[in-house]
Amino acid sequence: MEVQFLGTGAGLPAKFRNTQSFVFNFMQELKECWMFDCGEATQHQILKTNIKPTKITKIFISHLHADHVLGLIGFLSSRSFLLDTNASKVTIYGPVGIKDFIEKNMMFTHCSLSYSVEYIEISSEQCIIDNKTVTVFSYPLAHNVECFGYKIIFKKQKGSLDADKLRELGIMPGPFYREIKESDTFEFNGKVYNSSEFLSEDKPGKEISIIPDTRYFEGLNEFVKNSNIIITECTYLLKEDAHHARKNYHLSILDVEKMIENSKVENLFLTHISARYDRNIEKDVVESLCDKCSVKIAHDLEEYTL
Ligand SMILES: [Zn+2]
Ligand SMILES: [Zn+2]
Repeated sequence: MEVQFLGTGAGLPAKFRNTQSFVFNFMQELKECWMFDCGEATQHQILKTNIKPTKITKIFISHLHADHVLGLIGFLSSRSFLLDTNASKVTIYGPVGIKDFIEKNMMFTHCSLSYSVEYIEISSEQCIIDNKTVTVFSYPLAHNVECFGYKIIFKKQKGSLDADKLRELGIMPGPFYREIKESDTFEFNGKVYNSSEFLSEDKPGKEISIIPDTRYFEGLNEFVKNSNIIITECTYLLKEDAHHARKNYHLSILDVEKMIENSKVENLFLTHISARYDRNIEKDVVESLCDKCSVKIAHDLEEYTL
């Protein structure tokens, strides 16, 4: 799985940072890509990447501030021109009002789509996706408008088959191997075996926490506790600017430090960065946090394997 940042700035677009958006490439795991937030010019940023808009079938919106949604209409509308069937429906998750925002904009701009859109409006902490591969939860944050974080939990996968052990029984590689892996027991030569005896230990799934615009509050620690990957806003990168965070309903580097204190995070990505910072200060910021985990300050168009 990969994540690619399309916009990493806070509030206004800046010369080197577009407004918020990033896309997960889950093609291997789920055969789809998921977009989180869609700031203005997101579709222009996509043109500079290998992301295929038709593969984006789920869009998660954190809140209805302009820097997180103004790219939606353009993106959805252009996506229509890339499809000649209704094969690739889009599901949009977001706070109550997201449906109205999109539908009214579509109406005023005389825009009709060649595919269907399903809206899942969220108003609380809830499980919004649960299938055999992944579970996704929404989580209310503390911003100055209703705003949601998301947690993606990939389920553990069965271990690998011990082919040597199966050959010893006389079972040669073939389609039967898949059957053995997928069922709890199997029958061979009139005898029933437990599949688990032929499998290595389950492989743990990754857990990803996404924290868009919010003030710090204690619940965040609990929310991110078991995540090995965290993508969080960190509008104020320097400790001396931390006092702006609370009054502006955002996070500072000190808040992020507090949030990950007892977490299992291995990869931490900071995004939604104020335009006041240039790259020179980043090394010090990363170094002040990096004994805990790998820290990356995200930049537009950067792509990471997770
Ligand atoms: Zn924002
Ligand atoms: Zn906001």
